[in-house]
Amino acid sequence: MVRADKLYEGKSKAVFATNQKDLVIIEHKNTATAFDGAKKEELVDKGRICAAISNLIFEHLTKCGITTHFVKELSGTEILAKKVEVIPVEVIVRNVAAGGFAKKYGVDEGCELNNITFEFCIKSDILRDPMINQCQLTALGIVTRKELDTMLEVSGKINTLLIKLFCKAGIRLVDFKLEFGRYKGDVILCDEISPDSCRLWDSTTGKKLDKDRFRRDLGKVMDAYQEVLDRLKTALLGNGGTEKL
Ligand code: 5GP
Repeated sequence: MVRADKLYEGKSKAVFATNQKDLVIIEHKNTATAFDGAKKEELVDKGRICAAISNLIFEHLTKCGITTHFVKELSGTEILAKKVEVIPVEVIVRNVAAGGFAKKYGVDEGCELNNITFEFCIKSDILRDPMINQCQLTALGIVTRKELDTMLEVSGKINTLLIKLFCKAGIRLVDFKLEFGRYKGDVILCDEISPDSCRLWDSTTGKKLDKDRFRRDLGKVMDAYQEVLDRLKTALLGNGGTEKL
């Protein structure tokens, strides 16, 4: 596979064209950012660890029937992926109150929610990813009702699958962010799922194993990410296959 021109470079990933028009190469970078880029650091091995975690999760979701952009791993930090038209919306799924939700509604972090919540934000650095509701998304023509329904349905399924997977790894899935893209008439999962885009707490101790360690200067960020990777590998491979999860 030939890595051609860079098509896009974001805060944590770069996307390159290939010699096949429907495929791109996505490279995970070592850059960590928070607070709309105001906090930024290079963390040794972050690209490799996030890529490895995300690849394991995308492979697992694929086996469980979720259509994603992931084609295959090319190197420690690069994947081959379907070239999607990115839908500029972040879908945030929450099982437990934390982060922005806990702050906004004045509830304690860790408070169990009576039901899962789905939130949408527009992907825009200039606008600082504002929250947007379903009517507004369709009113602005950002997505159709049908696309939105697909995104909601798939996000719910992913939540169920990931709660199970992380539970097996001794991890509580607090919340996470998903992104979707259009590909050959379908809406499919894209971007990444890693400790950069999820809140993951140790099931027993409550220790944070995600990007909050970076945001909140808790230290040992990469040790925590590596722990997530090791535990996921054991949960997936030590189980004799993902089917049993
Ligand atoms: P919150 O709204 O509480 O800040 O974030 C909810 C969840 O979505 C967290 O797991 C957080 O890491 C993830 N998330 C929200 N916005 C972004 C974003 O712009 N980039 C990434 N990587 N994750 C995000």
